[in-house]
Amino acid sequence: MGFSARFTNVIKSLYDKAHFSIKSGSQYTKSFDISEGILQGDVLSPVLFSLFVADFESFLRGRGVTGAQLDRGDDVPCLFYADDLVLLNESASGMRKVLGCLDEYCAINKLQVNSEKSKMVIFRKGGKTQDYKFRCAGKELELVSQFKYLGVVFSCSGKFSQQADAALKNGMAAASNVYPLINQAQSSSPKVWKTLFHALSSATALYGSEVWGIFYCEMIDKLQTRFFKTLLHLPRNTPDAYVRAELGLVSLKLTILKRALSWLAKVRAMDVSRFPSRCLARMEELGRSNPSTLSTDWFSQLGKLAMEFKFESALSFAVPKKDLGKAFESIKSQLLEQDAATVAISRFNDRFNYLLVPGSERSFLYSGMSLPLKRLISRIRVMGKKKTSLTFDKVRVYFDGDAPCSMCNTPDANDSFSHFFEACPIFRIDRKRFFGEYVLGLEQALYWYGVVSDKEARKVAGFVNTAVKQRALIENEGFLF
Ligand SMILES: [Zn+2]
Repeated sequence: MGFSARFTNVIKSLYDKAHFSIKSGSQYTKSFDISEGILQGDVLSPVLFSLFVADFESFLRGRGVTGAQLDRGDDVPCLFYADDLVLLNESASGMRKVLGCLDEYCAINKLQVNSEKSKMVIFRKGGKTQDYKFRCAGKELELVSQFKYLGVVFSCSGKFSQQADAALKNGMAAASNVYPLINQAQSSSPKVWKTLFHALSSATALYGSEVWGIFYCEMIDKLQTRFFKTLLHLPRNTPDAYVRAELGLVSLKLTILKRALSWLAKVRAMDVSRFPSRCLARMEELGRSNPSTLSTDWFSQLGKLAMEFKFESALSFAVPKKDLGKAFESIKSQLLEQDAATVAISRFNDRFNYLLVPGSERSFLYSGMSLPLKRLISRIRVMGKKKTSLTFDKVRVYFDGDAPCSMCNTPDANDSFSHFFEACPIFRIDRKRFFGEYVLGLEQALYWYGVVSDKEARKVAGFVNTAVKQRALIENEGFLF
């Protein structure tokens, strides 16, 4: 292979002298020589192993094996990643032949296959499969409908819905470790929230999403809005676009599309003889001849999104980095426009929805206000006009915008939060106590005071806290007597 004798001798002596012992408490057992295998945890080991099995494909070829067809010229019988081996074949008989060859290869090279960990997946378009049996290393291989390979779940349907489910679950689990961090530190900085979310939750969930994510953008997007709903104690039914607008967030679709387009550019830049490049070419060719494969065809799916977000030019060959950056900016502004349009026509709270401007950052969230205060103001700002509840200082009260106010007898007054806040005569004295002679409208409270000044926000919080407690008291007494 062209290595110098000196280099070979260095490695040889490394292995000649290798031995291990087991540590038990502070004691070590006597040491054993390592006479087979490669050194566990040594950085050189994967390379040595790769070199050791480098002849595997030619061994298969020598026995007349052909693998899965890649394009007209070539087929792929196997993929290696360190000691992780994938065998690909298009027929059951072909697969049995390859497995036979693997047994033979292992016997010659004194290798062992872990048949417990090895699984068989039959990729197909649908329907039932025959009861196939495959054997390797003297044992029958388990037939499974999905398998996690290099951290991504591959399903027999060729779709990645299982992977998307798993990613969302992992992201949520990671997020549940972030809340205690934020709560314990009482961190009220949105910058910290966003950094922690991206570093711990979305980074976990979006692993490999350049490949599978473009089919499940909507689903994965929920990860972000759920995280911030939980963090700010916002009800689950708050529209996602409201949450993003309030926090100045952009849909995770942007992250997924950025990853996919960067991956495409990378593959486009590869030598045409490389597998990713050839797979892409083949995928494009198949997509052109059979557009119905959209649900599993990565490139067609990207094309569909390119039409929606008008970035078709970013799909072509040799896109300059600068232009890719422009495409990202354009996708971002379109996603923000979509949120703006969703918020504008939403009936969830059509009185105050104009206060939510996607893409702009609410200054009160960036002020020195405490976390509970920010939670309260945000909660009110994205509150629904109909049935809703408010929890502050562990007291919860419910509002029903369709019912008459249960506190006062004012004609036509409904039991909405805005009536409670700005008009209900029951709370007139408290209102005066916090806001003075000038009767504060909810709109002003939310927009002007809530945004501009800490002091005014505290007045809002003080009033809401007092009034909510009173209301809870009246409700309970009314119930008791
Ligand atoms: Zn009232």
